[in-house]
Amino acid sequence: RPFADLPLSPALQANLTQLGYAQMTPIQAASLPLALQGRDLIAQAQTGSGKTAAFALSLLHRLDASSMEVQALVLCPTRELAEQVTQEIRRLARAADNIKVLTLCGGSPLRPQAESLAYGAHIVVGTPGRLLDHLERGSLGLGRIRTLVLDEADRMLDMGFVDDIVQVAKRCPKERQTLLFSATYPAGIADLAQRFMREPAEVKV
Ligand code: AMP
Repeated sequence: RPFADLPLSPALQANLTQLGYAQMTPIQAASLPLALQGRDLIAQAQTGSGKTAAFALSLLHRLDASSMEVQALVLCPTRELAEQVTQEIRRLARAADNIKVLTLCGGSPLRPQAESLAYGAHIVVGTPGRLLDHLERGSLGLGRIRTLVLDEADRMLDMGFVDDIVQVAKRCPKERQTLLFSATYPAGIADLAQRFMREPAEVKV
């Protein structure tokens, strides 16, 4: 199915065309119509399936560019993935007006990250431990989050991030969309979903 079928803004549509994205991948075709309606989703998808664009387009669709508050938060298991996700969001957001995306991971000093946050950002992508550090220091506020994404959720559980994820999710507004992407669907994922998702649709390709 073509992206043109989706109710995305003309700016996002034009950018997809420019990037050479014409047809949706199977995970995109299965998840985007639901995600764009605001549904919570549990999506089973592998790396290379186009899962990043699936959640990136959803969160960009819900973004208010005129507000500099953090409106979307993407949790990733590793710095490497967080950097890839940031790059893909920036590519997809290119046409839209000055969307600021920040990456917050451990292994980089906290203070410059906090200073960047102070200038404002629309989207934050990071690893759970470091995001929690910023929450505790007060340098990151989640009161305006509209979309929370858990990317490679099974890997985050394997790495022992479950408590950190719960802490972060608790600080997001209840009225939000939660999108969970995972290559596998172990019991821990169902558990996590039960704790803070709202009637999630399950998508598998
Ligand atoms: P991902 O699974 O998110 O890591 O994406 C794998 C690669 O596919 C990335 O390089 C994307 O830029 C690219 N990609 C994602 N969706 C599409 C699409 N619908 N058409 C063409 N390329 C895509």
